[in-house]
Amino acid sequence: MITSKRVRLLIVLASFSLLGIIATQVYWVKEAWHLREEQFDSKVKISLRMVVNRMFTLANADTTQQLIESVLCESSCGTVGMKDSIQAFNQKILDSLLRDEFKSMNLGEDYVYCIYLLHGKRFVTGRPEAFMPELLESPLSLSLSCIKKANAQILAVWFPQKQSIIMGKLWGWLLLSVIFTLVITLTYAYTIISFVRQKKLSALKTDFINNMTHELRTPVSAISLASEMLLNSEVSTNPAKVEKYASLIFEQNTRMKGLVEHVLQVSMLEQGKFTLNVDEFDAHEVLRNLARSYRVILEARGGQIELHLNASPSIIKADKLHFTSIISSLLDNANKYSPTTPHVKITTLNADEGIEIQISDNGIGIAPEYHSEIFRKFFRVPNGNRHDVKGYGLGLYYVYTMVTAHGGQIGFISEEGTGTTFDLHFLYNGPTDLVQDPEDE
Ligand code: ADP
Repeated sequence: MITSKRVRLLIVLASFSLLGIIATQVYWVKEAWHLREEQFDSKVKISLRMVVNRMFTLANADTTQQLIESVLCESSCGTVGMKDSIQAFNQKILDSLLRDEFKSMNLGEDYVYCIYLLHGKRFVTGRPEAFMPELLESPLSLSLSCIKKANAQILAVWFPQKQSIIMGKLWGWLLLSVIFTLVITLTYAYTIISFVRQKKLSALKTDFINNMTHELRTPVSAISLASEMLLNSEVSTNPAKVEKYASLIFEQNTRMKGLVEHVLQVSMLEQGKFTLNVDEFDAHEVLRNLARSYRVILEARGGQIELHLNASPSIIKADKLHFTSIISSLLDNANKYSPTTPHVKITTLNADEGIEIQISDNGIGIAPEYHSEIFRKFFRVPNGNRHDVKGYGLGLYYVYTMVTAHGGQIGFISEEGTGTTFDLHFLYNGPTDLVQDPEDE
């Protein structure tokens, strides 16, 4: 048996490892991004060098003096409106050189460029569009000092869409990595949640088995004792005693049958092995009949039951037997969990193409921390035992399973020490998808 401490340690270790894997993943994705960026930059730098080399060769071989032209740029003295005449490389030729080189390096055409004067960072020529500040700071630049008459000029380029270009190349891997990380994290979380749930359920099951064994012990020993007596020749010849012990055996056997029914009910509900025999009947009639039987029980304790049957129509399509059991379970609980004079109220009204049934009591109520657990299999509010109220934590599980199998809904409001109101909704037309016996499929 794995101890809780060891389980906790395993969960902590596994969580740390998972966090480690995610951190490593993030680190590698970042590294891959940097690498792509560096690769991109070095491709641009190589292209720029090629462009400058070709400019150099062209400028040296230029006999027609058409490669270098005069352009006007802002005056170095800073006076507004004053212009200096500067010798610059022909822009059209520069355009085609850059396009050729970037194309051969697969860098695309989404770039801006310019040549600027190193001194004063003044624009000379190019197509900077709105990115002049970025171009002046761009690390993707090269001095044109090797070209005569352009020795204080810098050729700079800027790729405004650089991040998207890199993303375009990496997105497949990024997506896979995000998907795998998400899948691992979700499966891990799911495993832990199911594990914790299973542990809780196993504890509840143990309680249930303990309760059941305890309950079974009495009839088993009573039957054993009675049959032993019947075997006694003195008793077997006395018809009155035979009848006494035989009826004791019968009684205890009936009790045992009831207990076994409970166990069978769990597996029936768990496996969904039940079929609904849907019939049309008057819900009010069932409620009136049940109220009649419970009135006797409640009045014997000084309590009362009130009926406010306001729904009209009150004919619904449902499994009458299960409908009756659902309401009985809730009335049973209303009685069981009302330690002082019980005051139970049944109200019906019409709502959302169906009938709403409210069953309220003035009992001990349910503390808010247990509200989310109340319909779980085997669950019993801890103080249920303290008040010595018998039960197996199956009533509400049965009620919930059956109401939802009918396509209905169930909810409740409860305040500790004040009481509880269960709210059921059944459709007039009954369940749309009948729960099928899995073996029939
Ligand atoms: P049990 O056999 O224990 O009654 P149920 O599934 O019917 O099992 O109910 C589960 C738990 O919900 C009970 O143990 C009890 O603590 C709480 N409970 C159910 N109905 C009421 C109620 N009307 N008032 C207060 N507590 C309730």
